[in-house]
Amino acid sequence: VSGRLLVIGGDAAGMSAAAEARRADPAREIVVLERGDLVSYASCGIPYLLAGEVADEGDLVHYDPAYFRERRGIDVRTGAEAVAIDPESRRVELAGGGSVAYGALVVATGARPTPPPVPGVGLPGVVMLRDLPSARAVEGALPGARRAVIVGAGPIGVEMAEALLARGLSVLLAEAEDAVLPTVHRDVCGRVVAAMASAGVDVRPGAAVEAIAPGDDGGARLRVRIDGRDEPADLVVLGTGVAPNAEIAAGAGCALGPGGAVRVDRRGRTDVEGIWAAGDCATAHHRVLGRDVWIPLATTANAQGRAAGRDAAGRPARFPGTLGSWVSRFRDVEVGSTGVDEEEAATAGFRPRAIVREGRDRSAYMPGAREVSVRLVWDDAGGRLLGAAMSGDGAVGTRLHTLSVAISAGMTVADLAGCDLGYAPPVTPLRDPVQLAAAAAAGVGR
Ligand SMILES: Cc1cc2nc3c(=O)[nH]c(=O)nc-3n(C[C@H](O)[C@H](O)[C@H](O)COP(=O)(O)OP(=O)(O)OC[C@H]3O[C@@H](n4cnc5c(N)ncnc54)[C@H](O)[C@@H]3O)c2cc1C
Repeated sequence: VSGRLLVIGGDAAGMSAAAEARRADPAREIVVLERGDLVSYASCGIPYLLAGEVADEGDLVHYDPAYFRERRGIDVRTGAEAVAIDPESRRVELAGGGSVAYGALVVATGARPTPPPVPGVGLPGVVMLRDLPSARAVEGALPGARRAVIVGAGPIGVEMAEALLARGLSVLLAEAEDAVLPTVHRDVCGRVVAAMASAGVDVRPGAAVEAIAPGDDGGARLRVRIDGRDEPADLVVLGTGVAPNAEIAAGAGCALGPGGAVRVDRRGRTDVEGIWAAGDCATAHHRVLGRDVWIPLATTANAQGRAAGRDAAGRPARFPGTLGSWVSRFRDVEVGSTGVDEEEAATAGFRPRAIVREGRDRSAYMPGAREVSVRLVWDDAGGRLLGAAMSGDGAVGTRLHTLSVAISAGMTVADLAGCDLGYAPPVTPLRDPVQLAAAAAAGVGR
């Protein structure tokens, strides 16, 4: 495809696509349309900005538009919102009139937060966290605030509980499902729940938020009705999930897949000639399930953006696939998962088994040794490792990396148990918790 390479959306997926397209083709004209005033910012750092751990908002902005223009030869246009794509004439129409022609188009429009279906979500002091403007709205509500209600106990809800505690607020965390971090098995995330409770977070799993209303005069700014009772709040943060911004691509005829996201192949191509898509607006191939899924994550957005940008620039590229790997933290407790749980594994035709093992992150006799829980899911037919979840007082992130690598490589639990890992008492134990769990799994049924 020749002609201008146009990208819609200037964050993780869009800027990765533009930068990779530039590497693939130094001469190509590349234009990025971003409706906001920032590009290439780290939404994932917002909880730590609000906590005061990251000093300045500017620290979260990797590069500004001038950097891309001057150093990379990429024409980044902020305040430019795409409203429609005409795939016949290969033009993108802009809000406020005008249009931009393209030879190849990468749609990287991301996702938007979805509020719970209750009255009052538009009131001042109720914030859906997504980007830096929404982070500013939280910051603006903090002066004088004493109590926060966070709705949704996914990773963002848990990270915001830590942030708002750090800012001196008392925090109620309400989750409609009967578990905190519902995607992680409760065997593993009990440690997170206990850490939050002992830090004073009022954790309410299975709690339905029914309405948000203005507070009484002289009291808190808002009232949140939870299971029939009014809870006072000066700030409400909604972390109740996201939906893909797929409308523009769908309007151009691109087919949608799981989660209503734009369906793409491994090269990032949509069904419409000349249009690629990447990131939170797009589906992704799952390495274990072998089918398309929609798991919006920064890691996937970055990798898919690079593949789509390279392919759209005419160089061969292939997105290797997602495992939905993520990690998070509440104070000293780290938690995360990779691959699939038993339910998903069963839908893909595996015969899943699971095991949980506790271990230490270094030799138990060393000062500071910390506990780690590892849960493995594997296929009973052959022993292939399919998924893992982990929590611990630190020391979890890189161990989960090990498990992602093992799953990506198609290793069995016996393979993993037999790996030669390093050992020194103050750094790692003689047998790592990951290996102990794998060995126990390999022994099951023998
Ligand atoms: C608080 C928070 C914490 C997070 N933490 C993590 C984490 O720790 N790890 C992790 O993996 N993920 C995390 N995520 C998710 C991660 O931020 C997203 O997966 C990632 O930003 C997706 O990148 P994207 O480029 O696909 O979409 P987005 O970041 O949504 O960017 C899309 C861009 O497109 C622009 N746009 C949309 N429509 C148009 C249009 N019509 N015209 C022009 N521009 C348009 C938007 O303004 C936006 O800038 C977190 C998200 C949040 C909100």
